[in-house]
Amino acid sequence: MEQKIQKKNQVEMMEKLLLVEDHAIFGKMTRTILEKEFAWPVTWTQSLSETVALLEKSTDHFTAAVLDFDLPDAMKGEIIDAVVKEGIPSIIFTASIGDGIREYVWSKKVVDYIFKDDPNCLDYLVSSIRKLITNQEKIILLVDDSSFFRKALSDLLQVQQYQLITASTPAKALKALKNYPDIQLVLTDFNMPEMDGCQLCKVIRKTKKKDDLAIIGISAEGDKTMAARFLKSGANDFIVKQSFITEEFYCRINQCLENIDLIRQAKLAAISDFLTGLYNRRYFFEQGEVVFREAKKASLPLGCAMIDIDLFKQVNDTYGHGVGDQVLQALSKILKAFVKKNELLARLGGEEFCILVPADPKGVSDKSESVLDDLEARFNQLRSDIENTKFFHGERRQLLQITVSIGISHQTDQDFSHLLKTADQKLYEAKENGRNQVVLATDEYHQ
Ligand code: GH3
Ligand code: MG
Ligand code: MG
Repeated sequence: MEQKIQKKNQVEMMEKLLLVEDHAIFGKMTRTILEKEFAWPVTWTQSLSETVALLEKSTDHFTAAVLDFDLPDAMKGEIIDAVVKEGIPSIIFTASIGDGIREYVWSKKVVDYIFKDDPNCLDYLVSSIRKLITNQEKIILLVDDSSFFRKALSDLLQVQQYQLITASTPAKALKALKNYPDIQLVLTDFNMPEMDGCQLCKVIRKTKKKDDLAIIGISAEGDKTMAARFLKSGANDFIVKQSFITEEFYCRINQCLENIDLIRQAKLAAISDFLTGLYNRRYFFEQGEVVFREAKKASLPLGCAMIDIDLFKQVNDTYGHGVGDQVLQALSKILKAFVKKNELLARLGGEEFCILVPADPKGVSDKSESVLDDLEARFNQLRSDIENTKFFHGERRQLLQITVSIGISHQTDQDFSHLLKTADQKLYEAKENGRNQVVLATDEYHQ
């Protein structure tokens, strides 16, 4: 299968930015903003010769370069070639607007092009670099039977730092979608053997909806019905191959990916708790039912730990609601670090959290007591870790400590609500017995 993923070099490299600008005040302003926004060192040069000398001797990895089109020793954009040929994604700053320059700049495989006299140009620059960084997380699948166009479009997409998978046939594209479920955008040609681009769209749309995956159809000039056919087949957008302008190509791709991102963010917000970022109560009850059913089907017990901060009202009363919020956030971080990948953690409300702990199928040959012992030991350790954690607050960094009580149930014999109710009862017992302790519903095991 002809496909590849271009990933950023795996070796951790120090991020740096390159700024080439001969105007002292503008250069200083740009450097200050870049350093503040990205907290990365900015290397600032002021001419073509200085930049070439720097790149010749430097072993630095530049995440991006910001290049002034017009320099004292290179007034026609010669700086672009010198930097782009080093493989550095480049954003061009210029005061000139002419169409000739615009075309020239885009022909040089640059990331973006910004006018200096726009009052928002520095904000735009920051968002452009940010996009470049987030693009590294985005996966695009390019489907075209022509190796010439695959190469041409791949080159353009690589400039923007996207991760790229290429496929020479629709069948290979469908296989790639299965293997890489995180693909966010498919760019597909129309004329291909086996299946045309519109048919491919229809097949993809059977499993991937528009809010999960964007599709852009690309086809040669000549057929005026092509755009409508692609859109009716489920594509989000359409581009004519021969005549598209690089800038427009990037804008359309960016817009499709941004829409997908917005929908993802909205979906995430709907299932997250605003204060702590943990899953919220609604998601916990929905997903918890699924986890419970799976455990029951596999005849494996499911652990449920109900965790509640002790006397939290006093924290609020003594230190104020703001400090209370900070404690909830700090505790959430501890809980997040505590849970394993297959465990479900949520803030059920107020100062109450819940964790569902599926049993490890390999570790449970029967309902062994050792599983319960492990569960109790793990949560006792968590309880003790929280008791020993020092939370600091306020300007004087005053010390604050909290404890939690934990109730644990463990079964899949009955239903999900019974599992929760039992954990709640055990939590109540922990509170009654004096707080800062774990109470386990061992009786269920013997039922
Ligand atoms: P117990 O040991 O019996 O659980 O005592 P408690 O004080 O923790 O329990 P109680 O239910 O009496 O009080 C819970 C407090 O949690 C009261 C409420 O103001 C506070 N609380 C709930 N949600 C939040 C929140 O989002 N932020 C802050 N700061 N406090 C919250
Ligand atoms: Mg200049
Ligand atoms: Mg409480």
